[in-house]
Amino acid sequence: MIRQKTIGRSISVKGIGLHSGQPTTLRMTPAAVGTGIVFLRNDLDRSVPIEARYDRVVDTRLCTCLGRDGVLVSTVEHLMAALYGLGVDNLMIDLDGPEIPILDGSSQGWVDHLLEAGLVQQRRARKVVVVRRPVEARIGDATARLEPSSRFRVTASIDFDHALISHQTYSFDFGATGFVEEISKARTFAFKREVDFLRSQGLAQGGSLDNAIVVDDFSILNPDGLRYRDEFVRHKILDAIGDLALSGEQVIGHLILNRSGHALNNRLVHELFSDERNFRRIAAVDPQAIQESALSIPALVPSAS
Ligand SMILES: [Zn+2]
Repeated sequence: MIRQKTIGRSISVKGIGLHSGQPTTLRMTPAAVGTGIVFLRNDLDRSVPIEARYDRVVDTRLCTCLGRDGVLVSTVEHLMAALYGLGVDNLMIDLDGPEIPILDGSSQGWVDHLLEAGLVQQRRARKVVVVRRPVEARIGDATARLEPSSRFRVTASIDFDHALISHQTYSFDFGATGFVEEISKARTFAFKREVDFLRSQGLAQGGSLDNAIVVDDFSILNPDGLRYRDEFVRHKILDAIGDLALSGEQVIGHLILNRSGHALNNRLVHELFSDERNFRRIAAVDPQAIQESALSIPALVPSAS
């Protein structure tokens, strides 16, 4: 049985918000089986629990932002990716501001904090979502697709009209290769001219070379360079895992991304759950049963696109 997980003890993390530049303290607390990941703003008179779920996404322009009844928690994706990568199912997260701390712009800090708090297996089996037939979302020439697979895999490609990035492709197999080693350390990236524009609009106030790769027309401005040669596409995978985590369960399928972004990722999860024939939700009592469920899918299923 694959059991649900939470953390062993409460832990607090301080950091600044990428856009607000404001210091924020976030506390993660163990939660009971079946809770899921729930955010709570403790700086407001009115406390509204916000479930980390795809249908709570209210803004995807610069990050993935959750909201309920006018209360917002933004930039959840790097933390959600760390939770998904480590298999944390249940957690209460309260914070004293509207934005999750950006830390170093990757999921590495969140992974370290969660491992420090310890991962604890709980009494009940995890639920997983097995993709039963292909689903696709498209925005312009960007596409995101989920196909049946016996395990969770991601294949991503990006194309930027920039000599240092240009075309990059990366495949990540969740079972065979480590999220922590291969994906979690990849930082967010931005172009210098975009950063200058965002700053002029009062955004990216907390952004710096400490929490993003910044690229000008010819070079990478970070003195230490890149962490991976293809860090850009790996970060796109990290973002997509964080957005897919908002499905609320682990997804068994092959995620295929081409020029993806938060809006597209969210649209794909909506598409997946829009038709019950697209997926099967099963308790991970027997890993073999998950694999068999995924493998029993007819090889040729008409595309939903
Ligand atoms: Zn990101």
